Amino acid sequence: MSERSSVSVVIPVYNERDNISELLERTVRECRGLGRRWELILVDDGSRDGSSELLAEAARAHGGEIKALLLNRNYGQHNAILCGFGAAQGDILITLDADLQNPPEEIGALVAKIDEGFDVVGSVRQDRQDALFRKVFSGLINMMVRKSTGVRLQDYGCMLRAYRRRVVDAMLSCRERHTFIPVLANLFAKRVTEIPVGHAERARGTSKYSFLTLINLQFDLLTCMTTAPLRMLSMLGATVSALSIGFGALLLVLRYAYGAAWAADGVFTLFAIAFFFIGAQFVALGLMGEYIGRIHADVRERPRYIVDRIVGETLGECAASTPSPLSREQHS
Ligand code: UDP
Ligand code: MG
Repeated sequence: MSERSSVSVVIPVYNERDNISELLERTVRECRGLGRRWELILVDDGSRDGSSELLAEAARAHGGEIKALLLNRNYGQHNAILCGFGAAQGDILITLDADLQNPPEEIGALVAKIDEGFDVVGSVRQDRQDALFRKVFSGLINMMVRKSTGVRLQDYGCMLRAYRRRVVDAMLSCRERHTFIPVLANLFAKRVTEIPVGHAERARGTSKYSFLTLINLQFDLLTCMTTAPLRMLSMLGATVSALSIGFGALLLVLRYAYGAAWAADGVFTLFAIAFFFIGAQFVALGLMGEYIGRIHADVRERPRYIVDRIVGETLGECAASTPSPLSREQHS
């Protein structure tokens, strides 16, 4: 990518009134030091504490550098970021949190990695400053995502990240309403890497995630990534049914060896039969799940692929219309 590739920094803001002035000061300073064209897109996610007025004021004061998008209500961090992506013009898109847990001073390092040719650059929080249960929970989720996607990144939860424009275009063309951006991005990225970054305690205010909203977010992550849990239903059901057949056969043998009284006059046999049907129900549920999973995949309308480059022309294509944005040639 040439020296001139521009940078858009997208920050979702939800009730962060007390963090905004320091956030803007540090982010603007870092962006000015990048030595390239940049813009800052601030998305207010339906704040009720006056954050939106502060963002609008900043956009007026820094015309040409800062844009504020004010949503009419709270749509969630990932939707707010997607809204910012939709308005951003840069070749490289950076996201970070507004609470200063992600130091804006790391933006330069992310941009440098994209310049090296990566499509997505994540970050690994060093000495993470969050509650222990959040760290343990994150560890489990990261392990699950690694196993499920095969992309061996360490920290999917850190939103201090950089994306190349074409990956963002692909994400924007997905129609799903519940998503988890770092996982979604991996679907469209060829080269993904991570860099270590600092992590601070929340500067002011409190986390916007309660235990319940955090669980909700993890379901978004899971369902955006895989339909494997549905398949597990079928596998569980098939295992229960198979075991119940074995159990029934064992009962039959023991019944002849020890007599009817041992088998409680058929009660155990009823158990074996009941387990078989319980298992069969799970198989049926899983099967329906497979259909629902496919419907889910279709309604998301994710692009099936991104064409990297098209080489050569055939059958008078010179006269053909312009290529779709997803197949537009990008120079590294
Ligand atoms: N955020 C948002 N909408 C929400 C929740 C959070 O825009 O519904 C923003 C929030 O203002 C912050 C970032 O997302 O900039 C991360 O939120 P937070 O720091 O509360 O999350 P945590 O660090 O506790 O995971
Ligand atoms: Mg935070």
